[in-house]
Amino acid sequence: MTDRKAELAANLAQVEERIVSACAAAGRKREEVTLVVVTKTYPASDVRILHQLGVRHVAENRDQDAAPKATACADLSLTWHFVGQLQTNKVRSVTSYADVVQSVDRAKLVTALSAAAVRGDRELGCLIQVALDAESGERGERGGVAPDGVEELAAAVDAAPGLRLDGLMTVAPLAGEYAGRQRAAFDRLMEISSRLRAGHPAANMVSAGMSGDLEDAVAAGATHVRVGTAVLGVRPRLG
Ligand SMILES: *Cc1c(COP(=O)(O)O)cnc(C)c1O
Repeated sequence: MTDRKAELAANLAQVEERIVSACAAAGRKREEVTLVVVTKTYPASDVRILHQLGVRHVAENRDQDAAPKATACADLSLTWHFVGQLQTNKVRSVTSYADVVQSVDRAKLVTALSAAAVRGDRELGCLIQVALDAESGERGERGGVAPDGVEELAAAVDAAPGLRLDGLMTVAPLAGEYAGRQRAAFDRLMEISSRLRAGHPAANMVSAGMSGDLEDAVAAGATHVRVGTAVLGVRPRLG
């Protein structure tokens, strides 16, 4: 085993142990939580090693980095999640490799994603990104729609050809009433998810929790955790 493979294997084992413990503490089955490894800023060679180690879901946040990486790993059976703020001029590229876009946060993006999915003859999974700290009608600093805008956006995704409404995503806010209160933030996301599922029963994905707070997300009921640093190491640059 290469040094890097051994390092990633050890890190993955630790993250797996954390997820198993968090599931046990919450009385949940391990299979209820999917690990999505956030490979942003790390090379395609790491994605390849992660695949060898059993990882099947990876996430990226910038199309410039993600597109060549996805091409280099096209022979691997992987589900690619896009989790970054997405400009409409990148939508066509992202739609060519992403299976799920977790950062859907405005109507204009829904229109563009739908057009690209139809043109590429693909079905694209969509999560509405919720900015728990955004005021009504506004968007979050790191993307996301305010909680009271979720339903309208969900209806738009649901009605859009080529798109499949899969659920919700959030990043725990750094500011506002939820700053430093991840569990409360994720509980709030679950409430919004319950309301969404009442009208859209299939939209049952809840993506929450990162390296620092995955236990809180699992405790709250998240179905997907997005883990970067704890698997790959501290990122060499901001990403
Ligand atoms: C980078 C990133 C993550 C992973 O964060 P870590 O703290 O490195 O685990 C999760 N979600 C999103 C949206 C990200 O951009």
